[in-house]
Amino acid sequence: MNKQNENSTSKVILARGRFMAAFLLLCLCYLIYRLAILQIVDSEKNKNAATDQYTTEITIQAKRGNIYDRNNKLLATSTTVQTVFISPQDIADDAQAQLIADGLSRILGVEKSEILEKAARKYSKYQIIKKNLEEDVEMEVREFIAENKLSLQVCLEEGTKRVYPYGTLASHVIGFVGAENTGLDGIEKTYNEQLSGVNGRAIQGQDGQGNDLPFQYESYIDAQNGEHIITTIDYTIQSILTKYLKECYELHKPTFGCRGIIMDVKTGEILACASIDEYDLNNYTELTGAYLEKYEAFKGTDEEKAAYRSSLLYDLWKNKVASELYEPGSTFKIITTAIGLEEGVFTTDSTFTCTTEYTVLGHTIHCHSKKAHGVQTVSQALVNSCNPAFVQMGLKIGGELFSKYFKAFGYTETVNSDITGEARSIYYSDLSNQLTLANCSFGQSMSVNMMQHIAAVSSIANGGYIVTPHLIKGYIMPDGTVVNDDRYTTKRAVISKETADTILKMLVNSTKNAAVSGYNISSKTGTSQKMARADAKPDEKYYIGSCVSFAPAEDPEIAILVVVDEPTSGKIYGSQLAAPVISSVLSEVLPYLEILPSNENNIKTLKVDDYTSADIERARYAVEAAGLHCVVKGSGSTVADQLPRLGTTITEGGTVILYTEKDHSVDKVRVKDLVGMTPQQVFDWAKNQKVNVIVEGIYNREFANCYAILQSVRVGEQVNVGSVIYVSFNYKEDIQ
Ligand SMILES: [Zn+2]
Repeated sequence: MNKQNENSTSKVILARGRFMAAFLLLCLCYLIYRLAILQIVDSEKNKNAATDQYTTEITIQAKRGNIYDRNNKLLATSTTVQTVFISPQDIADDAQAQLIADGLSRILGVEKSEILEKAARKYSKYQIIKKNLEEDVEMEVREFIAENKLSLQVCLEEGTKRVYPYGTLASHVIGFVGAENTGLDGIEKTYNEQLSGVNGRAIQGQDGQGNDLPFQYESYIDAQNGEHIITTIDYTIQSILTKYLKECYELHKPTFGCRGIIMDVKTGEILACASIDEYDLNNYTELTGAYLEKYEAFKGTDEEKAAYRSSLLYDLWKNKVASELYEPGSTFKIITTAIGLEEGVFTTDSTFTCTTEYTVLGHTIHCHSKKAHGVQTVSQALVNSCNPAFVQMGLKIGGELFSKYFKAFGYTETVNSDITGEARSIYYSDLSNQLTLANCSFGQSMSVNMMQHIAAVSSIANGGYIVTPHLIKGYIMPDGTVVNDDRYTTKRAVISKETADTILKMLVNSTKNAAVSGYNISSKTGTSQKMARADAKPDEKYYIGSCVSFAPAEDPEIAILVVVDEPTSGKIYGSQLAAPVISSVLSEVLPYLEILPSNENNIKTLKVDDYTSADIERARYAVEAAGLHCVVKGSGSTVADQLPRLGTTITEGGTVILYTEKDHSVDKVRVKDLVGMTPQQVFDWAKNQKVNVIVEGIYNREFANCYAILQSVRVGEQVNVGSVIYVSFNYKEDIQ
């Protein structure tokens, strides 16, 4: 073959080759185009090995929305973090694999053997070595890549990590997200769809070897970021509730913890919801508190320990306000009273007698009081929390009516709002058995969850409505607009406003330990014996102490329910366990909510002036103008002496005696037993006897349930008229 021929032949071959290459490339382009379209239209269905060979699909992560409290305080957010991965296909040889394993192991703290094992997967271009790098570690990795020219073999990829700025706070409400950025519990789970947004995609053409094609065909669909969630939770109120629940937990070491919920009685918005122990949302697979102690004390094989650890974790994650059932005990007496008054089965004037016990079908039900309460009005029976009285009320109501209202108050259905893990209540649907009905009338023989109960009893605080306790307030859309969510804002009437207001007033300041100085609070405590557990010791009894309060009593804004589950401190009553938590919480929450004190300084004191030498009529006018009661002794025209003397502090409405003679006798008063009297009764007695009283402690004029507990002058002792007696008051002791 001559040179010319050789040349022309090779030109032909070259031309043919170029033609073929161009043709193939065109075909490939078309193929990639088709596959890309298929991937966009329906990626899952059409995804197969062939497409993987020609295209790579890169997910563009949608940014997960934030979670805020009601005042826009950030409770959960997502930050950008880097993931390190290696491309085994691009690792040249064993020496390079060793270099990579040495470097990454040193920087990331990952086992070298693990990296080598992944580097050996030659089929792959993507093996994750570590996720969620800290910023300084990320810089070290970048330096390592640059120094060793490993930009093909070691890569960083941007991803997101969920961050909870307050760690444990409201953990049971907020919940957490799993590895796939999917909400697994709490708000993160309920509102996962809104928070997630929609991931975007970029599709890149590649040749059969997995190399990016030079002209880089790409299709790009932008990610749609998630919506931000605004919850009903108030960070400050949540913090206050948590602080005092923890204090209670330390004091009483309840086997099954303690929990509380604070709700807006008018809307059902949950302002705070906490259960102790809490867990750290940023490390949700770590056991905490008593759970960690239990795990550390556990003896068993590694397998048994792992199983035990999982079971503890699941329990720790539960929002027990929703997931735990309990017998509401005496707090349920609110409901029994409401049914009876609403249906006219009895009135506020009806009386029920307590002889310390009451027998139903041969079964004796005891009063908590060893001393008989005797004849009581409905109001007295409620404040006394007298079981025999309530058994009589329940029996009078009858099973059918009782069941009808039990359902109407919402106890037979879950609240079914946005709190995860709500348990179904356990109750008798047929109350034709008198003993069962009797037990139900004082809150035993039924198990309900705290959400159901707070919704039901709050009807007495909002004029008779059942609201739905819930956590969602609204959303901030990706474009910044705020949208309210009103799916839970409808309310249902269950009793009349009249019945509601009557019961609310009966309970004003009825619980000493839940009282807050300066405010009127309506409260009811409860103590229930738990049904026997499988692991119960035969001679031991297990209790749940609880208390529910509405504040301020004049027109309640909030309800708070606290439950202490199996205390081990020896204290068993709701008044000892839960009421003090409520008192502490409300004393901070009410001022925070800018609710003004209503019974502060409602009994004013003043200093007595000097009236001696004054004209008697002028003096009388001055005394009465000061808001005092004036008594004149003698028939003279000027004041010669007075009692009490100048500068003495007495109470508004107190008595000043003016004498017109220098030498006068002073009447004596025998002091009676004032303990157990209301402030008004004490004032009436004092005015009558012409002595003065200064009140101390917790008191208010308007409401009952407030009694004298101490007096400065002994019973039977004699004092001068005009003298000052100090009397200390407190709310009635309610031991249940
Ligand atoms: Zn009684």
